[in-house]
Amino acid sequence: MIEDKNQQRTDLGNLGEFGLIEHLTKNFKIHQKTTVKGIGDDAAVMDFKNKQVVVTTDLLVEGVHFDLSYAPLKHLGYKSVMVNLSDVYAMNAQATQITVSIAVSNRFPLEALEQLYEGIETAAKIYDVDVVGGDTTSSTTGLLISITALGEVSKNDVVYRKGAKPNDLLVVSGDLGAAYMGLQVLEREKEVYKVNPANQPDLNMYTYIIERQLKPEARRDIVQLLKDLEVKPTSMIDISDGLSSEILHICKQSDVGCDLYENKIPLDPQVISTCEEFNIDSTTVALNGGEDYELLMTISQADYPKIKANPNLTVIGFITEKSAGMHLVTRAETKIELKAQGWKNFSA
Ligand code: ADP
Ligand code: MG
Repeated sequence: MIEDKNQQRTDLGNLGEFGLIEHLTKNFKIHQKTTVKGIGDDAAVMDFKNKQVVVTTDLLVEGVHFDLSYAPLKHLGYKSVMVNLSDVYAMNAQATQITVSIAVSNRFPLEALEQLYEGIETAAKIYDVDVVGGDTTSSTTGLLISITALGEVSKNDVVYRKGAKPNDLLVVSGDLGAAYMGLQVLEREKEVYKVNPANQPDLNMYTYIIERQLKPEARRDIVQLLKDLEVKPTSMIDISDGLSSEILHICKQSDVGCDLYENKIPLDPQVISTCEEFNIDSTTVALNGGEDYELLMTISQADYPKIKANPNLTVIGFITEKSAGMHLVTRAETKIELKAQGWKNFSA
């Protein structure tokens, strides 16, 4: 929110397109065995041998997906990578390469793009993916970032959205709703700042939820955990749009119904207290909030003993026959039909 007047501002026009590309990509090194050729030719070359390859892409648009008045560019770069890796992990695959394409207006100095790429580089390093290409062009309006991720998975391990069977357990990693509540806090602080720029907000009690919004982590560890536990989910999806929307995707594609238990939905204490402060229902936030980047999966009942003691995985319901429909079982033990836009329009 605060612009540093002393910051160096190198005009992008001084570098030219090729100079810019070279500057931004000079630190990227190749680590993956599957990368034959990275940045620097007309196309990258990969050799996946006998593995299946997954590909996924996401486009992030300034003003739609992010707001630079509170999202630091470094975090934005990191998050742009996470959004894509999360989709790779949702296939039970390992992410191996990404490409990064940006459209940028010359209102951004070189230093801003350096920060963006610092975040991208950090994410690539931590998650062990090679940056093998991209594209760079100008934009007359805001910043656009498009990342494509590649991953590998053996034929027997790939997990689709379809595949859930009646009686399977509905399981989620981590906790839900934090990213949405972090956004609420940031939006509120932005309004306060507009009125009084001298006001320094105390965000100490919101550190977890703000971090979940600005710097999420994709659940690579869960894919590894499932492997270690010898559990192959019958279906899986990542939670980018809110729990209810993702459950509906699994049920539709698997041709099944489900019972989701409100009292089982994992919530962080900071989510609960912030919901109270904002007077928002925490279940609504978990169901419709989005951007959690947790993994939602179904597992066979036979695998329950393997996961039951694990603090990273929570059973939140089970799969039913399609004819039974898709329901939320509330704390008051009433059944409400699950809708993609949540259940608040329905009175219990
Ligand atoms: P082309 O004219 O074939 O599109 P470019 O000059 O755009 O080639 O890109 C040169 C090399 O740099 C290519 O390997 C390309 O994938 C890579 N590259 C271009 N822009 C970016 C970027 N923003 N981030 C990472 N790599 C990039
Ligand atoms: Mg190009």
